[in-house]
Amino acid sequence: MADTIQLEIVTPERLVVNTQAEEIQIPGKTGYLGVLPGHAPLITELAVGEISYRTGSDTRRLAVAWGFAEVLPHKVTILAETAEKAEDIDVARARAARQRAEEELRKAGTGGDPEAQAALQRATARIEVASKLNGQLANFTP
Ligand code: ATP
Repeated sequence: MADTIQLEIVTPERLVVNTQAEEIQIPGKTGYLGVLPGHAPLITELAVGEISYRTGSDTRRLAVAWGFAEVLPHKVTILAETAEKAEDIDVARARAARQRAEEELRKAGTGGDPEAQAALQRATARIEVASKLNGQLANFTP
């Protein structure tokens, strides 16, 4: 069996993922970080985006928003404010949140609205992650 890393994704509400993976992609504040077994230890702030992890040919995705990631050679711990597995994302809810945020940003004009901007980022990440899952299912032939 290939060398693996333990991946734990925790939110204030629950343990979302606890698994072994061969490769993990994390949305860091300064860009995406790829982690393979044996990675040098580090702590990074999370941005809003997608966490993906691969075991063999199986890749799973989650939408995450803010928090921290601790990388150790054989363990990655993600403490995120929110994290949803692709299959648990309510796309209609995310679309509605995106629409509300866009409307608020339009109203705010050039002054901007950081809260609406953040809500837009979260909604966009959720829609993107969910759409990749649907793409996989669409291509799936039993
Ligand atoms: P909304 O306006 O729809 O509540 P939001 O971005 O304000 O969206 P958050 O405050 O980021 O929501 O999250 C609140 C809780 O709801 C978290 O537990 C988060 O995982 C969950 N959540 C938010 N949006 C979705 C979604 N589209 N599908 C599944 N869970 C969601």
